Amino acid sequence: MPDYDLAVIGGGPGGYVAAIRAAQLGLKTVLVEKDRVGGLCLNWGCIPSKALLYCAEVASLFRRAAEFGIGYDNLALDYAVAQERSRAVVEKMVAGVETLLQQNKVQVVKGTARLTAARSLAVEPEGRAIEAANIIVATGGVSRSLPNLPIDGDRIITSREALELREAPRSIVIVGAGPVGVEFAYLFRSYGSDVTLLELLPRVLPSEDADSSRVLERALKEQGIAVLTGARVEAVAAGEGGARVVYATGEDKREVAAERVLVGVGISANTQGLGLEAAGVALERGFVAVDDRCRTNVDGVYAIGDVTGKLPLAHVASTQGVTAVEAIAGLDPPPLDYLKMPRAVYCQPQVASLGLTEAEAKERGLDVAAGRFPFRANGKALALGETEGQVKVIADRATGEIIGFHAVGHGVTELVAEASLAAVLEATARELGYAIHAHPTLSEVVKEAALAVSGEAVHFYAPLRYQK
Ligand SMILES: Cc1cc2nc3c(=O)[nH]c(=O)nc-3n(C[C@H](O)[C@H](O)[C@H](O)COP(=O)(O)OP(=O)(O)OC[C@H]3O[C@@H](n4cnc5c(N)ncnc54)[C@H](O)[C@@H]3O)c2cc1C
Repeated sequence: MPDYDLAVIGGGPGGYVAAIRAAQLGLKTVLVEKDRVGGLCLNWGCIPSKALLYCAEVASLFRRAAEFGIGYDNLALDYAVAQERSRAVVEKMVAGVETLLQQNKVQVVKGTARLTAARSLAVEPEGRAIEAANIIVATGGVSRSLPNLPIDGDRIITSREALELREAPRSIVIVGAGPVGVEFAYLFRSYGSDVTLLELLPRVLPSEDADSSRVLERALKEQGIAVLTGARVEAVAAGEGGARVVYATGEDKREVAAERVLVGVGISANTQGLGLEAAGVALERGFVAVDDRCRTNVDGVYAIGDVTGKLPLAHVASTQGVTAVEAIAGLDPPPLDYLKMPRAVYCQPQVASLGLTEAEAKERGLDVAAGRFPFRANGKALALGETEGQVKVIADRATGEIIGFHAVGHGVTELVAEASLAAVLEATARELGYAIHAHPTLSEVVKEAALAVSGEAVHFYAPLRYQK
């Protein structure tokens, strides 16, 4: 008889949510965490970065104070205070999760877990053995490093060290214009750093819709960030007081020096020393291979979150966690559909999306209609002075169903929730256009973009223009 119905390895947003859901369903659950519950997300990812980014937003607003008739003598930005505030937010969140785990009677064991067989774990350093009927691997990922980008944790850093800085660097080169890269670019630029953003692919946020990349790139450049796309980093070397980066754009080779270099080129799975081989768990491209209910190839062993290499986002990890647990409890949860999961980037303007990009939809041979609506034609956006960006809704002409939502602008990371609901309800663009949105709100941009799919947006003259 195993000690537990479920053992979860890793207490990030995948693991702790899975453990709480399991407890709700009456499963006797143990959670093994080697560091702090909340994982990367609460401690060194989503939460501290968003707390800092909010300070950056406030700073940016202060710079525009005259526009709102507000004057001051001297603007003093203290990054150290922003950093302290960010850590205080983290502490509150982590304490909250600890309390929730306690209230739900999840047993939390501190230590590093390793699978010794399909249903047993050893936890170090105590050497405690745990037998469980089911195991969920939720060990997350680690920042990827490349051979020509040796991370030294001082001059050449990852997001982890960047989130520990007590002052904004005078200058920084950021390698990789994915979500982490563009968020730090905006953050440090708002605090006055000289920022160079290097991206290998032809556009920033290369996995987003090309329209979103275009609007964001223009905005980042207007903020004074040097954005270089199609730039291949060839070498990075740390030196006295800084680092130098050699990069090539086509035939042209250049060098840029900065106080620090931040490497944000994605993640690899955190599987080292986990004993997956002992249990016979299969990997795919280094990540734990799972099906649409997070089952691995080994009966009773599941994997969720960044370690699966699906969509490395906290809410995706949590959703996978709930699905895995419900499958374990025999509830037959719906299969996971990653196209129904929102993606959000918190620089300014923000970027948020769900589903297929227009190019992906066309690659799949779908006949699509896209509707766009700009923030500059929205009353609330004008009132706020936040007129940059647009919402784009992509629908399948055959069914009318929304298959893509792509937004750039103020507050779009909140607006994307509407696209999530539309996806779950399999709503058509017409239905989203019918839904009545309070006036004046930014959400009206979503309604009008949905109406624009059929050329029916009222506050922007472009009849059927986007249907071609
Ligand atoms: C700077 C930054 C900002 C981000 N911002 C966002 C955002 O705004 N929104 C968003 O959705 N996502 C964001 N992410 C991504 C998000 O943090 C991850 O997708 C999420 O944390 C993944 O959750 P997880 O549970 O899979 O793993 P993690 O959060 O990485 O948690 C894994 C846990 O497992 C523990 N662990 C590992 N191995 C063992 C072991 N052998 N035994 C015991 N414990 C172990 C670790 O200590 C860790 O606590 C951000 C990431 C970064 C780096």
